[in-house]
Amino acid sequence: MSQETPDEHVATSCQRCRCFHEHSPGSGDCHRFPPSFAGDGIPNEKHRWKHPLVQQHNWCGEFQPRLKG
Ligand code: SF4
Repeated sequence: MSQETPDEHVATSCQRCRCFHEHSPGSGDCHRFPPSFAGDGIPNEKHRWKHPLVQQHNWCGEFQPRLKG
């Protein structure tokens, strides 16, 4: 079984994924899927639907490379 190298891990991490939308250095939201309901305890109705919070070095099996352009 081969092990992923650190460079290979970075190449497929959130920071290189087209679904990652950074909103502060090193962290952001994953937009792979629509936002999900976060509960009705939040007073502002617009904030009740959220994308998952991810860090730039996270990864998942839904990785998609950023589009060049
Ligand atoms: S969690 Fe997966 S789909 Fe979302 S930004 Fe990270 S690698 Fe991409």
